[in-house]
Amino acid sequence: KQPTVAIIGRPNVGKSTLFNRLVGKRLALVDDRPGVTRDRREGEASLLGLEFRIIDTAGYEDEDPQTLPGRMRAQTSAALREADAALFLIDARAGVTPLDEEIARWLRSETTPVILAANKAEGKAGESGLLEAYSLGLGEPVPISAEHGEGVVDLFEHLRPHV
Ligand code: GDP
Ligand code: MG
Repeated sequence: KQPTVAIIGRPNVGKSTLFNRLVGKRLALVDDRPGVTRDRREGEASLLGLEFRIIDTAGYEDEDPQTLPGRMRAQTSAALREADAALFLIDARAGVTPLDEEIARWLRSETTPVILAANKAEGKAGESGLLEAYSLGLGEPVPISAEHGEGVVDLFEHLRPHV
């Protein structure tokens, strides 16, 4: 079976942007408005020669925020069941939110290895969010910028043991 990585995170942290960068084709719809990606997307990812299957979890993004945690958990668990590693994204510019904490608590209770990445970390605006990310209890956060292609070497090093 081909190694699989599931990208997990609340809406608007940049999951689809990262997915598109790793897959190299615009298979996932990216939009400025949160909640635009409708479906779960899968693709063949390539990162500095590492090849793996990647899942962009997103189908809950149109849902009523009241029901979001339940739907998110359902979709995330489906992806996690197939995944050799979870790539958990937060938004370094926004910092850690209550929904990030809820996802983190849930991921900590699962056995799938988690790589925590703080996206939108280009420039100085992401520095405090990167520090906050340590509080999620998922190890050292990897600063990345999906949009600008920064942090790929670090991401490669963290993914390599799992794929
Ligand atoms: P998703 O909802 O998690 O799939 O997030 P998207 O990939 O749709 O991105 C949400 C917004 O964040 C879009 O406006 C992206 O252009 C923006 N974004 C994604 N990655 C980065 C990044 O590395 N830096 C910055 N500044 N913005 C980003
Ligand atoms: Mg998306």
